[in-house]
Amino acid sequence: MYDFTYTTLASRVIFGAGSMKLIQQEVETLGARRALVLCTPEQREQAEIVSSLLGPSSAGVFDGAQMHVPIENARRAREHAKSVDADCAVAIGGGSTIGLGKAIALESSLPIIAIPTTYAGSEMTPIYGITEGGLKRTGRDAKVLPKTVLYDPELSLGLPIGLSVVSGLNAIAHAAEGLYAKDGNPVMSLMAEEGIRALAKGLRGVKASSTNREARSECLYGAWLCGTVLGSVGMALHHKLCHTLGGTFNLPHAETHAIVLPHALAYNSIVADDAITRIARALNVDVAADGLYELSLELGVPRGLREIGLSESDLDQACEVALSNPYWNPRPVEAVPLRALLQRAWEGARPRP
Ligand code: NAD
Repeated sequence: MYDFTYTTLASRVIFGAGSMKLIQQEVETLGARRALVLCTPEQREQAEIVSSLLGPSSAGVFDGAQMHVPIENARRAREHAKSVDADCAVAIGGGSTIGLGKAIALESSLPIIAIPTTYAGSEMTPIYGITEGGLKRTGRDAKVLPKTVLYDPELSLGLPIGLSVVSGLNAIAHAAEGLYAKDGNPVMSLMAEEGIRALAKGLRGVKASSTNREARSECLYGAWLCGTVLGSVGMALHHKLCHTLGGTFNLPHAETHAIVLPHALAYNSIVADDAITRIARALNVDVAADGLYELSLELGVPRGLREIGLSESDLDQACEVALSNPYWNPRPVEAVPLRALLQRAWEGARPRP
């Protein structure tokens, strides 16, 4: 029997090779005149192309985006947007650049157009994160959701295979947890299952050839679906655990997600039948957690948390921090099984329920 609430988040999505070229038209559609282009220093070249496509509607390029959106960068970007009289911002890049756009929108309500070049999915969520004094504060606010998203698979052709893989697995994590979310609904479950299927297929294609356009398109399509799930329903153990590990031990975001996910799924597998069946079906395997673990190995993801900078002596503290901040999860989060999960994730061992 169904029993759910479904809220649609309003955003305009344009998907297809070459869609970046529609940027000027999309700025006009929003009723804006001067768009500031945001990027990281590494993606300055792509941002300059966007700026030239904008022509007289460009307010220039701001290349100060950084991982985890330090508050100082957000302040500089807000000041810069004001000083160039921008009435819109275009964020071209991954979750860090889109995060900077969100930090501007949070204070100024400036509309954001996102042009994602990774598979992290931030462009489809009203979730923002800003780091101050070493602590990342996150929240939800409808005004940070990008108004328009241009998905152009051509732009991810240069995304290194390693980054593509961990970013895609990060997106799969959004969908997997969306399938057993407390506030889940049948529409999000359809999107989640299809997102996992598309990403698993696309990532294998990208691993074989980073310039495979069909595979890049499949991955970006999956990223859109998975990002939509993250933006619409709540997350559980996996996301909270990755947040703890990233925040307390400064572990890289996407790699942490990629390593922890099979273990978090195994933990929840004994209580989340429908979700686990759907994930297994999307991956075309018998056991969801094993299927994801094998997919990670096939894609060459670091095997365990020990390979990305966590010491074994940190595991007790990680467990304590994760338990100190209670949150909803389909299976109660308890010390003994959680510590065992962390140990396996650290070793890179096969997941166990
Ligand atoms: P990222 O944005 O930090 O990018 C990593 C690096 O790859 C950067 O140097 C970037 O310039 C470069 N890069 C991006 N696309 C490229 C391309 N096509 N070719 C070459 N280089 C490219 O990485 P990410 O994984 O997309 O984002 C991670 C951040 O996003 C984390 O801070 C995470 O918390 C946040 N995030 C937020 C949400 C949300 O809903 N708020 C969702 C997912 C992730």
